[in-house]
Amino acid sequence: MSRYILCPKCSERMQLHPEDKRMGFKQRRVEIPGVRTPPGLARQVTTFGDDGHVSVERTALKSLVCDSCNQPVPDGTPVTAVTLYQGEEPEPWEEEYGRVRPTDKA
Ligand SMILES: [Zn+2]
Repeated sequence: MSRYILCPKCSERMQLHPEDKRMGFKQRRVEIPGVRTPPGLARQVTTFGDDGHVSVERTALKSLVCDSCNQPVPDGTPVTAVTLYQGEEPEPWEEEYGRVRPTDKA
């Protein structure tokens, strides 16, 4: 499963590829008219060294960024939350980012 928060420009461009559909991928798209940054938002990078050492670097983020173009998405911006999955539909997660308006499944 993959989750994306997309700015309006990237939302229009991101569609399920026919090959993904053949492989059984489905897409859930949920409109969030005014996104809000969840408290404690951070980007976490985990690195696994050859020597078995694991390091975790956590950087707090002041605002969301689009998962496609990486541009800042200020609170109040309309966004699309996209879930790509195979098999059973994942539990909703989108409300963490604001009030949602369900749209379509493809
Ligand atoms: Zn974008």
